[in-house]
Amino acid sequence: MVRKILEFVEKEEVKLVRLQITDINGTLKNVELPVKRLGEALTKGVMFDGSSIDGFVRIEESDMILYPDTETASLLPWKSESEKTIRLICDVMLPDGTPFEGDPRYRLRKIVEKAKKMGFEAFAGPEPEFFLIRKKSGDPKEIELLDKGGYFDMLPVDKGEEVRKSIVIALEKMGFEVETAHHEVAHSQHEVDFRYTDILRTADNIQTFKWVVKTVSVLNGLHATFMPKPFMGINGSGMHIHLSLFSKGENAFYDPHKPYELSETAIFFIGGVLKYAAEITAVTNPTINSYKRLVPGYEAPVNISWALGNRSALIRVPSVRGEATRIEIRNPDPTCNPYLALAVILAAGLKGIEENILPPKPIDRNIFELDSGEKLKRKIEHLPADLKEATAKCEKSELVRDTLGEHIFEKFIETKRLEWTRFMRSVTDWELAEYIDLF
Ligand code: GLU
Ligand code: MG
Ligand code: MG
Repeated sequence: MVRKILEFVEKEEVKLVRLQITDINGTLKNVELPVKRLGEALTKGVMFDGSSIDGFVRIEESDMILYPDTETASLLPWKSESEKTIRLICDVMLPDGTPFEGDPRYRLRKIVEKAKKMGFEAFAGPEPEFFLIRKKSGDPKEIELLDKGGYFDMLPVDKGEEVRKSIVIALEKMGFEVETAHHEVAHSQHEVDFRYTDILRTADNIQTFKWVVKTVSVLNGLHATFMPKPFMGINGSGMHIHLSLFSKGENAFYDPHKPYELSETAIFFIGGVLKYAAEITAVTNPTINSYKRLVPGYEAPVNISWALGNRSALIRVPSVRGEATRIEIRNPDPTCNPYLALAVILAAGLKGIEENILPPKPIDRNIFELDSGEKLKRKIEHLPADLKEATAKCEKSELVRDTLGEHIFEKFIETKRLEWTRFMRSVTDWELAEYIDLF
């Protein structure tokens, strides 16, 4: 593989290499090398200062090594011939050659290994949504929506159509199999879906996807935001995760002889995700703003339930069966670190299988229309209402601690607590409008 890549860069006359990793917050980071250093990077790795990456800092030492994963090599389509660039996603190692426990990609690898030991291969496909906006200045308040379009609209209503098309073309050039791209429900909101693959590759793809969307937007004079709820009163942006397990090449969620044609494995997996939903939400929905999206009435879940059709549930089972049988987990949003979010979701589902956790009955009514008495009767619990509640639940979670590992877990909880403290110290526009005259 190393030889193949070196031959490829020579043939293509590649000039530069970008090595990428993801920090604890889910931010993609990179370092650039001239192509002549690629051979050494592929065989010996590249040393970097781990203490300067959020969530990586170790008391013991800071020297860490990037090892490029050769399967992630792809050319950057927006670069000209004279600056042709290849990028590679890396694993993070310590100088003694052992994996760094605090590398988010490593945490996902660990849970993938556990699934393998249980006889499963996990596949996932995301549905990331985002807003295309115009920034009028550096002031985050000076922004403008491009259009008043809605679901599936097109020009002249959909003013993001051309940029979205360029995004799709860039993704395809990088090896993505884009399935659909369309204007979403809210004004200036878009969705681009790409084909599912094994869960580690999907986490890599989500990182690449967000980077491509942002880059192509900037190159077109726009700004793409994956902030979950940038505007009050209209839908926010989610990142639903479609997930299935395969066993010996067959879809392990499908069983034509069982209720709903769902196997016991699928039912227990759902049971696990629902049981642990509240404690993993800080990871799948990690920002203050994430919880402004999880409110009734905007196609985002608020309660912990599952359903076959209805979109108000946390888990929906799309109607296809056979090879394509899968569940759709609807609370994650695109501010999550996809390695960590997919790791905790998979861990919760596998726990469900290990412990035969039965979920409650599916609820095929719009949960937003059930009153609180009915919710109580049906024992429907709610997702954490804000980051503070989510962090408190997460902090007590053994499942999250085990899955993220001590290093990330401690750092994550500390970061989220600080975020809440900073938020509580701020005075919002809403408070001013509400109270300045009243009191
Ligand atoms: N934008 C909605 C959300 O916040 C989802 C809409 C859809 O079903 O695609 O999750
Ligand atoms: Mg959508
Ligand atoms: Mg969806």
